[in-house]
Amino acid sequence: MSPSSALLSTQALDARYGDFQALFGIDFEIAAGEVVALIGANGAGKSTLLKSLSGLLPVSADMVRFNGQPVGGSAPHQMVRRGLAMVPEGRRLFTGMSVDDNLRVAIDQAPAAGAGSSARTWTLERLHALFPILKTKRRVPVESLSGGQQQMVAIGRALLCQPRLLLCDELSLGLAPLVIREIYAAVPDIAAAGTAIVLVEQDVALARRASHRLYCMLEGRITLTGRSSEIERGEIARAYFGAGHAMA
Ligand code: ATP
Repeated sequence: MSPSSALLSTQALDARYGDFQALFGIDFEIAAGEVVALIGANGAGKSTLLKSLSGLLPVSADMVRFNGQPVGGSAPHQMVRRGLAMVPEGRRLFTGMSVDDNLRVAIDQAPAAGAGSSARTWTLERLHALFPILKTKRRVPVESLSGGQQQMVAIGRALLCQPRLLLCDELSLGLAPLVIREIYAAVPDIAAAGTAIVLVEQDVALARRASHRLYCMLEGRITLTGRSSEIERGEIARAYFGAGHAMA
């Protein structure tokens, strides 16, 4: 993929928290409808990269391109308007509001938020087809849902912003295997609708299965990238833990 055909790309992206440099020269890209996994140990810089893409962390304009335009350092609401939505770690739903009301917040913002996409791909009906439980529980306070169901609301809320790119931070965190399977089963359907997805994922096997390509990070750098089905376990172990490590 050439950078010009990428939906989003970064070139030599550095990011800092004050004096602390967290990312070093990140070259990353994702095409429309592609699923890309981002793996790496705790502190590798995965969340920092998502924050740099979504405008939560200031970076230079030409370090991030969306649709070929330099957008680094844009405010988060501008990035949503361009077509980028995030499912944050911890979900951050509106407690005290029903499932439907949580979703309608995104629908109400969508005319502006959807300006980056050509059509309203995601509707409540389509979302209910993806996650039928959200229809059954539509009037229920969101805090009474299970963790997995809340994750579905968080994904739904992001999709109703009509993103061309969805950034997901640790969808599987704290969820039971069956629920994780149910949530990840939706990933191909979302991508088939033309929405590209970045999956930050601690579970390497899951990340490989769910993605077309993956990037591995270590200490703020990309240490490996390639097609998920072609990369070998040993390569991932070296990239994940550093040279000299052998996977048991
Ligand atoms: P995890 O899986 O634990 O979330 P991660 O790969 O997402 O890890 P980051 O959270 O991006 O890693 O952290 C990358 C580096 O930046 C770490 O050294 C971390 O301590 C540091 N860091 C993260 N957030 C901040 C912050 N707000 N202020 C200062 N340093 C931070």
